[in-house]
This record gives sequence, structure tokens and C-alpha cells, in this order.
Amino acid sequence: MNLTLRSLAREVVKGPIGQILFFGNARFCPICQSHLRSFLPYGYPSRLDVRCLICDSVERHRLIWLFFQRKTNLFDSNKKKMLHVAPERCLATRLSGMQSIEYLSADICNPAAMVKMNITNIQYPDNTFDVIYCSHVLEHVLDDRKAMREFYRVLTNGGWAVLQVPIMLETTYEDPAIIDPVERAKAFGQSDHVRCYGQDYEKRLIDAGFNVKRIKVTEVVKQEEIERMRIDEKEDIFFCTKL
Ligand SMILES: [Zn+2]
Repeated sequence: MNLTLRSLAREVVKGPIGQILFFGNARFCPICQSHLRSFLPYGYPSRLDVRCLICDSVERHRLIWLFFQRKTNLFDSNKKKMLHVAPERCLATRLSGMQSIEYLSADICNPAAMVKMNITNIQYPDNTFDVIYCSHVLEHVLDDRKAMREFYRVLTNGGWAVLQVPIMLETTYEDPAIIDPVERAKAFGQSDHVRCYGQDYEKRLIDAGFNVKRIKVTEVVKQEEIERMRIDEKEDIFFCTKL
């Protein structure tokens, strides 16, 4: 679906027909505050009942939004600089409109981002950002350790970063010799992934200099919210600080 059709569809579902077809109380999206009958399917293979038809959020976006709200200082009134890498539209729309956040989105190729950025060579001085959020990007980056060191470098002392990746294995598996997209899909689960992270991901963040707190979903949301907001119970949050 192109953007125009998608916008049109969004307008339709927000109107009276959508109210009848989609709106209800079974689901709630905390990002766009929509009460819905169900979410839409999303992903390959398709996961049922996960994508918000209003803001396009999926499980991990809703979890991170609640984490920001409930467990961080992101939305207090103190001014802070935030770097959002590979910005997801649902979060970018809300974050960029906040008075207390001096917001910068960055991506290596997406023209919708505010600046072009290679996260292994960040074009900003040390101690620039009070908050960094980068989700499901590092598994695409060959020199992920360099990217982590760069995030550490540009984070202010006392600042924090949420650096999310999919954790698939016990021990991280990577092989830079595998470059063919078909082979990468076989080895790492997706044609543009360069590794599968394991439980040792946290150690890489520590090696880059961060203090890391690994936070369970149940520390952020209640059991009934996991179902109502369709949040993935298995996705831990990696909360990284620079002292
Ligand atoms: Zn939503």
C-alpha cells in the first residue's frame, strides 16, 4: 500500500465506518491512545493482532513507550536532547512534539529522518545527547561494537540509552563471510541481518563502557496490560547508563 492509500485508509478507519468495524475495548494502544477491537496482523511470518491501525505501532513500540513513561525521566519538564536512530513513525510523531525534548532523528538512508547518520561514525561531539533510543538496528550493523562505543561517546555523563535488539540464541552467532542475502536469511533469520544476538548481548554493551540494567517486561507492565496492549513478554529492555 502506498502512503496516499494508507493515509486514506487511516482516515476511513478513524471515521464512522471504522468506529463500527475496528473500535472497541479489547485492545488499547498507549502511544496514540486508541481503544480498538483488535490490532492488525504484521510481520513475516505474520503475527496476528499486533499492529495498531492508527499509528502503526507493534509490540515493542508500545512496550518502550510505557517504559519511557513509567521508568525514565524522558517526559519530565527538564529540557533534554534526544537522539532517535532509525525512527519509527509512531514514536517519532509523539517524541518530536514534546516541549521538553530537543529531538533529533537519524538514519543511514531513510529520508524521513532529520539527519543522515552512520552510527559507527557519529558526526556529533562527545557528551551531546541526554537520551539515545535505537531499536532493532545493531543486528544490521557489521561493526556493532564500534556503534555501541559511538553511542557511549555521544551520550552525556548521567545520560541513558535504550538499545534494543532481538535476542534469538544463547550465544551470539555471526560470520562476516556470509554476505549473500539468501545465505544471511538462512543464517541470521533475515536477509539484511548480519548476526543473531544471544544472551551475551549485554556483555557487548558493558564492553563499550555502559552500565547496563536488563529490565523484564513485567517490571514495566501488568499482566492484563500485556494482553490488552499486545506486548511481547519476552522482550527485555536494555537500559544503558553512562556515569
Ligand atoms: Zn496506536
